[in-house]
Amino acid sequence: MIPYGRQSIDQHDIDAVVEVLTSDFLTQGPKVPLFEKAVAEMVGAKHGVAMNSATSALHVACMALGLGPGDRLWTSPVTFVASANCGLYCGAIVDFVDIDPQTYNMCPKALRTKLELARSADCLPKIVIPVHLAGQSCDMSAIGELSREFGFRIIEDASHAIGATFENRCVGSAAYSDIVIFSFHPVKIITTAEGGMAVTQSAELARKMEYLRSHGVTRDPGLMIGESHGPWYYQQIDLGYNYRMTELQAALGLSQTTRLAEFVARRQALAKAYDEALAELPLILPYQDRRTRSSFHLYIIRVPSRPGHRNHSEVFAFLRAAGIGVNLHYIPVHLQPYYANLGFRPGDFPVAEAYYSQAISIPLFAGMTDADQSEVISALRDALV
Ligand SMILES: *Cc1c(COP(=O)(O)O)cnc(C)c1O
Repeated sequence: MIPYGRQSIDQHDIDAVVEVLTSDFLTQGPKVPLFEKAVAEMVGAKHGVAMNSATSALHVACMALGLGPGDRLWTSPVTFVASANCGLYCGAIVDFVDIDPQTYNMCPKALRTKLELARSADCLPKIVIPVHLAGQSCDMSAIGELSREFGFRIIEDASHAIGATFENRCVGSAAYSDIVIFSFHPVKIITTAEGGMAVTQSAELARKMEYLRSHGVTRDPGLMIGESHGPWYYQQIDLGYNYRMTELQAALGLSQTTRLAEFVARRQALAKAYDEALAELPLILPYQDRRTRSSFHLYIIRVPSRPGHRNHSEVFAFLRAAGIGVNLHYIPVHLQPYYANLGFRPGDFPVAEAYYSQAISIPLFAGMTDADQSEVISALRDALV
């Protein structure tokens, strides 16, 4: 089976992890700060705060921005459940903004309409989480403008988008947002096995996220209430979690960052080859906004229904049976039973649901060979006859 995505690990990665195993620190050592600095510098952010997953980073980012019970958080329905769950962890009310039919990212027009309604009903969101689906940035200038007009904060869920750009600036430079989140799960662009990072330009948000990822405990006298008792002293100043990244993960991450440009270039080359090879097939191929350069975490095709031919589910099943590890990103979050219990219904976000009825992610990863890609293309041709 050719998977839809997988990690690319070389000898340098292996050596980096082994070196940590025989060093003094398996956790809370020098590698995590080095990894944070490397990622932050690469994406043009002042601060990076590494955590054990992007999910943890989303949670801590919401906490750092003061999200609490009764507050509202909006995100895209076409995302992994974590982008919405982080709001529920904080006791907030979660809602969704429908997607743009071309980019599949949060639609700025739909966002404006919903914000205007919310303003009249006095229920504006505190935080909006745009998700850069497949590695293509959302329209951050439009969303950023709305944030100033309606007074919400922005966390970019860039789990798919390290190495991508918007208006020639790296995703992560937070030009229009407060915090940007990356995931280092093995299917993502670079990996630490499990892991994530929050990057920000704000020293204050970075400091908060640092103590929230580690029990709400600080050793910084500047953050303490009252006097330090001595060199052993620490204070718990908030209710945090153990969301720390280990040294093993950070060493792997540091090694992987040296190949980020190579990984993204390979993904872009494979995407271009798909664009050309699939152009004649009855498919909708990924639309690219000219202001963006996608890191192509995913290559998502849409299969419109054609009477007398295989439908979407049949094409999906055909490809799986042919050894092509296709996937579907994502089941709209509001259709999940947990969210249905919160009151969401089919029909709430029709563009997302129409997308879901046609979308398929076909294999794309840095280690994919040209032969792998030819196999995917010929299986697709067979599926669509
Ligand atoms: C992978 C992913 C996450 C969660 O990342 P983890 O590191 O696995 O916690 C969140 N949001 C999106 C859009 C993702 O793709």
